[in-house]
Amino acid sequence: MDAVTARPDVDVVVVGAGFGGLTMLYRLRERGFSMQGVEAGDGVGGTWFWNRYPGARVDVQSVEYSLSISKEVQDEWTWSELMAPQAELERYVNFVADRLDLRRHIKFNTRVTAMTWDAKSATWLVETEQGDAWRARFVVTAVGCLSAPLEPAIEGIHDFAGVTLYTNRFPKDGFDFTGKRVAIVGTGSSGVQATPVVASQAKHLYVFQRSAAYTMPAGNRPWAPGEFEALRENYDEIRAAQHASPLGAARFGAVAIGAFRTPPPKILETPMEERLARLDREGWLAASAFAWSDVAVDIEANRAAQQLYAEMIRRQVKDPETAASLVPHYPMGCKRPIIDIGYFETFNRDNVTLVDLRKGAIRRVTAEGIETEQGKFGLDVIVYATGFDAMTGSLNRIDIRGLGGRLMREAWLADGPRAYLGLMVAGFPNLFTITGPGSPSVLTNMMMSIEQHVDWVTDAIGHLNEAGLNAIEPTRQAQDAWVDHVNEIASYTLFPKANSWYMGANVPGKTRVFMPYAGGLDVYRVKCDQVAGNGYEGFTLSA
Ligand code: NAP
Repeated sequence: MDAVTARPDVDVVVVGAGFGGLTMLYRLRERGFSMQGVEAGDGVGGTWFWNRYPGARVDVQSVEYSLSISKEVQDEWTWSELMAPQAELERYVNFVADRLDLRRHIKFNTRVTAMTWDAKSATWLVETEQGDAWRARFVVTAVGCLSAPLEPAIEGIHDFAGVTLYTNRFPKDGFDFTGKRVAIVGTGSSGVQATPVVASQAKHLYVFQRSAAYTMPAGNRPWAPGEFEALRENYDEIRAAQHASPLGAARFGAVAIGAFRTPPPKILETPMEERLARLDREGWLAASAFAWSDVAVDIEANRAAQQLYAEMIRRQVKDPETAASLVPHYPMGCKRPIIDIGYFETFNRDNVTLVDLRKGAIRRVTAEGIETEQGKFGLDVIVYATGFDAMTGSLNRIDIRGLGGRLMREAWLADGPRAYLGLMVAGFPNLFTITGPGSPSVLTNMMMSIEQHVDWVTDAIGHLNEAGLNAIEPTRQAQDAWVDHVNEIASYTLFPKANSWYMGANVPGKTRVFMPYAGGLDVYRVKCDQVAGNGYEGFTLSA
């Protein structure tokens, strides 16, 4: 097509049909824009479509991990327990798509491979593996922060003669582990959640642990009679509290912090006897950063809390060697906190063995199983719970070419991802990234972050239309200042002290930089509103 005469097919292409993509489509349709959704999977749900591993469950209370965009959806959906399992979330996201009649806007089984900006026509050309091509005035990526699976760099991984499974692409119909010798490789959130469920089925489960993780009991439970109905009646209040919360999850805060009416004491100023007495009274909570005001900011205090955490593990896990191996070696709170249902207790089962890879690493996978420096393990099934190329992986796997044909992944190569507010990238006009790097995203309740981004993007596109303008792009100065601010906030925290996916440390060769914004969703929301209110400060708007 001749670029000068190129005409858009639609106003907006929306990439991804998880909660972000669906919310975006809904808001755009409300404002009368034409749009095309594109989704690689054969159904809606994103994270909850792909991560169907046994034990998968949300770690925020469901009344808060739900969309507030539609009163009908809110009033008509009933959550069955405090924190919904994956299957219920998948049913919910399908309910949302049907109730809001969004499916008709989406082309499924279609993977976007390239997006190319044409400056003359001020349009994006979006191309797919299946041969589609749409020209759009705007593109919104809603591709998820944890959606680009990582294949672990283990020799022989494809030589295994048994069944190989990945938590982040688990079979739709599940898998029956009964009578099988099973390995789970990886003890992040996915491995920790899967372990108790797989252990309850397998003949024997070997948990291959490279780094022990901090995990706490989820506290999930069924509703008391009438409890959910009462909450649903109070949704206005719940949403208001979520909006005011840095996490976008006020009930989590109430549960965790409300246990301590006065500001928590400093662990370093508390005698050991009293620390242990709190463990007796309060259990895991007393071994967390919530219980002490100095643990998140002072590395010595953090070490003291780690000792309490180790003591809690010793109280749960009968075998002293296993208990010692389960104690993490990095500061508490630097990686994503995990919540579980019966994780540590699982290691008291006769059919479960912890393989501590610090005592001898994996050498290779063979046809029969896994060979390590500490011996060979014969297996029928290997489940990899080895994580994602987080925050940037899904964007970088698309050839996104902006001004001058510059590839986004190359622009992000040297210094890590650079974006203004995590919403837009200099040199890539009219391309919005829902929960992009530099936004609060993964440090918050994703539903709240998604809704905030979607509303901001919808308003920005609406503003351009009303003003008769064609293009919006952040200035380099504004982007640089925002990236500096994100780094400065991170430097006040202990986050950069661990090799986490927040830092890109789990991907060989990836630049190590703390990617999300740690200043809180409430503060971030105000900043975004100010930017828009000041005529899109830090952006160049052009005809
Ligand atoms: P992850 O946190 O990145 O954990 C990956 C695990 O695999 C780590 O234990 C890692 O060890 C291990 N690993 C990677 N490569 C390995 C290798 N070659 N050999 C041995 N072990 C290896 O991934 P994830 O568990 O999928 O979780 C990712 C994120 O998704 C979470 O942090 C969370 O934000 C989200 N998530 C949330 C939920 C929930 O909220 N309910 C559930 C699942 C996931 P090292 O630590 O040593 O690298």
